[in-house]
Amino acid sequence: MLCGCIECHRIWCGIEEFNSLDLSDLNLDSSTDISHGICPECFQRHKDRVHQHQKNNGYSECYDRNDNCNNNKCLFKPACGNSAINSWRSSIVLLNASNLAFD
Ligand SMILES: [Zn+2]
Repeated sequence: MLCGCIECHRIWCGIEEFNSLDLSDLNLDSSTDISHGICPECFQRHKDRVHQHQKNNGYSECYDRNDNCNNNKCLFKPACGNSAINSWRSSIVLLNASNLAFD
């Protein structure tokens, strides 16, 4: 399954999956095999909403405030800080990186 971000429109997959993809047969525009969600980079732009959610549920508003947050109970830790972005980037291959539109 490929993943696509509904905000930045990048499409990616895991490195292992990439190695088993048949690239000659891959058409990202018509592929129905894409699971749409939000990438960690775009997710972090919504930190205000995450803080609100944390506050509403009685948690400290720790999300993405520092890079080595040690709140291991935090639901959002997998998408917290630069380290989360870096580990995401190092575990995936962007499939449509050539037509990226930054900003
Ligand atoms: Zn994104």
